[in-house]
Amino acid sequence: MNIVIVSSEMVPFVKRGGLADVVGSLSKVLVRRGHTVSVFVPLYRVVDKNGYDFEETLSPVEVWVDGSSRKASFFHVNYEGVDVYFVDNPYYFDREEVYSTSQGDYPDNAQRFGFFSLAVVKVITSNMWKVDVVHCNDWETALIPVFLKKIYGMKIPVLLTIHNLAYQGIFPKDTLPRLGLPWDLFTVDALEFYGNINLLKGGIVFSDLINTVSPTYSKEIQEPSFGFGLDGVLRSRRDDLYGILNGIDVDFWNPEKDESIYQKYNADTVEKKLENKLKLQEDMGLMVKKELPLIGWISRLVDQKGLDLFAIIVDELLAGDVGVVVLGSGEEKYQNLMLDLAERCKSKFAVRIGFDPVLANRIYAASDMFLMPSKFEPCGLGQMIALRYGSIPVVHKTGGLADTVIDYTKDPSNGNGFVFEDYKASSFMDALQRALAVYKDDLAWKGLVKRAMALDFSWDKSAGLYEELYSKAKEKIS
Ligand code: ADP
Repeated sequence: MNIVIVSSEMVPFVKRGGLADVVGSLSKVLVRRGHTVSVFVPLYRVVDKNGYDFEETLSPVEVWVDGSSRKASFFHVNYEGVDVYFVDNPYYFDREEVYSTSQGDYPDNAQRFGFFSLAVVKVITSNMWKVDVVHCNDWETALIPVFLKKIYGMKIPVLLTIHNLAYQGIFPKDTLPRLGLPWDLFTVDALEFYGNINLLKGGIVFSDLINTVSPTYSKEIQEPSFGFGLDGVLRSRRDDLYGILNGIDVDFWNPEKDESIYQKYNADTVEKKLENKLKLQEDMGLMVKKELPLIGWISRLVDQKGLDLFAIIVDELLAGDVGVVVLGSGEEKYQNLMLDLAERCKSKFAVRIGFDPVLANRIYAASDMFLMPSKFEPCGLGQMIALRYGSIPVVHKTGGLADTVIDYTKDPSNGNGFVFEDYKASSFMDALQRALAVYKDDLAWKGLVKRAMALDFSWDKSAGLYEELYSKAKEKIS
């Protein structure tokens, strides 16, 4: 198939979240499976150009946004067989950041991503382009189906993937004409959303098929509690709504080949994992002791990730024989909570505020347990990476966590982690206590770690499911 993927991020060029990993890995695997894959990404200032030849390609197109015509130029890079096209417009993309600065979101984000979307539409609707399916991702590209179907009247199949429903692209209604869209789209069954316009809603309404990044999340978002106001629209499209679990790049996340960790290991040499723990305990100023369970947490420090529960249970947790190491950044109140704890309990609790890929790998390799008490989690990569490194996840049963982690207490022969069902501090603490109890049983714990490390979270299975959705989207419009 000729597959066009459109995204605001892609590894290894620009990453601000899991979306970048998904687009980078999925496109590579699809090429390996015999498809022709083109990915469109904006040419931000922060795009990492090191080691790649950016060559100007295609004819520029003129895009009308915000009352004037602006030029989109295109630069091509071949990335492991994937044709990556960077859409260039210095006015919109030659800025310090991708979405926002410390002052907040760029106020013209609707115009920036509207411009990007329309530029892509102009290219793929030109006669020379062969396209079997367009795969859009999140609100930044959700105007593509709106333009293709409503404005251009094209019968090109579109799949929209929702990576996190919490981000929808909501803008004042007067943004509609600035994007060159007619007022007849300002209705409840199109882009209108409580007096504003909602770009993701437009994408949900006009795409042929929609998917989220795990089967459980695709059901949860049809409920008011997880729907962020879009549950009704999603319910109305439930026959076209799917859930496909993300994979991880198992070549990159591999304790056997990982150059950033202190000691490489695999499922057969798992005893070597201990060296990673002892070295990290030392590096982070924690008590160095091999019997002490080390609990790792690598996360954005935001409400979604279960910080409120952690704040309630942490004193009880630290009263026991444990070490905790946290890497993350986010809301100031949670950063301060972590910094205070590290100050108060130096030998048991260590934190690094910031984004640090090397330390992240070291924590996955060193820790015995990994926390993901998320309130909601569309898919979650952390638990899959942790499992691959033999760090046993302790998770809330939601979204992708529910689809990847089986509770060991309930199912000792298949369990790969510890799961709590009610989003309550006491349930979280109970799951942790169950994990700490099993940790004391050396033989049981070793068996659990080996089973975790043998699990397969590679992209191939999911890529096959995306192929099926692409075919279904094609059938829908033929
Ligand atoms: P989300 O995309 O909601 O942030 P995921 O679990 O899907 O959560 O993906 C998070 C990814 O980012 C994981 O690969 C995790 O290791 C990584 N990560 C998160 N915070 C940090 C950090 N502070 N430093 C390094 N890597 C981080």
